[in-house]
Amino acid sequence: MNLNDKVSDVCIDGNWLWPVHIVQKIGDLLVYPNHVLRDEERDRLYWKTRLDKLCDFSTSGVWDDIRAFRDEVSWHRVIWFSQNIPRHSFICWVAINCKLSTQDRLERWDVPCGSVCCLCDKVKESHDHLLIGCSYAKSVWRWFRGKAGLDGIIDRIEHGHSQWNDVINAMAGTVCNKGVWSIIIRLVFVAVIYFLWQERNARTFRNDVSSHEVIAKRIYEVVRLRLMGLQVKKSMQSQSAAKVWHFNFDDGGGTHLSV
Ligand SMILES: [Zn+2]
Repeated sequence: MNLNDKVSDVCIDGNWLWPVHIVQKIGDLLVYPNHVLRDEERDRLYWKTRLDKLCDFSTSGVWDDIRAFRDEVSWHRVIWFSQNIPRHSFICWVAINCKLSTQDRLERWDVPCGSVCCLCDKVKESHDHLLIGCSYAKSVWRWFRGKAGLDGIIDRIEHGHSQWNDVINAMAGTVCNKGVWSIIIRLVFVAVIYFLWQERNARTFRNDVSSHEVIAKRIYEVVRLRLMGLQVKKSMQSQSAAKVWHFNFDDGGGTHLSV
């Protein structure tokens, strides 16, 4: 066979004559009906979906066919949205699934490690403690009071009655749309999780310590830079956000740095 051969070239008098090495790889070739082949027509490439429907090939279509389907989770819009910061969302997704390698999990695998949280040196490290229960984490969350529309969530964290799952459920209940405050709430929430995990790793592996204020300001700058890259329509909501997050509106309707 060569590149110019057509499918009809391997069908003689109604019998398939596929090269043996190809049939050995794709045995199903012999069972396909060949009576519809016509010499005068060009070959066309189709993708057969898992529902047996023939359609044009596309990467997204193939992905939908081979991926596993699960029930939709209530929190998916909290972390997956077009204005997100992907590396932040990824770590938050791992955290929501309680799969960060915190010390309580490592102990279960018999991995030798310290037992107390390196952010406060007091309490055993777990998702609940590291992300919302730790005094260091609480200080970072508190820094965003009045700045990110997260005060209800921060109240839960401050009072210490909530567990990590409760906080996720509360976040899932917030409005997730294209409004600027909805974007800010989610950007900050996801960024705080990411930077707490980064700080934990910096202390654990590099002995590199930053104060909660340094981390909070770093988060503020990252979120502000992300907001500056968005096209935000001028409105009462976005003007109030611009005051807190220090961006101005340019003539084209987008945002740029306030000087
Ligand atoms: Zn701690």
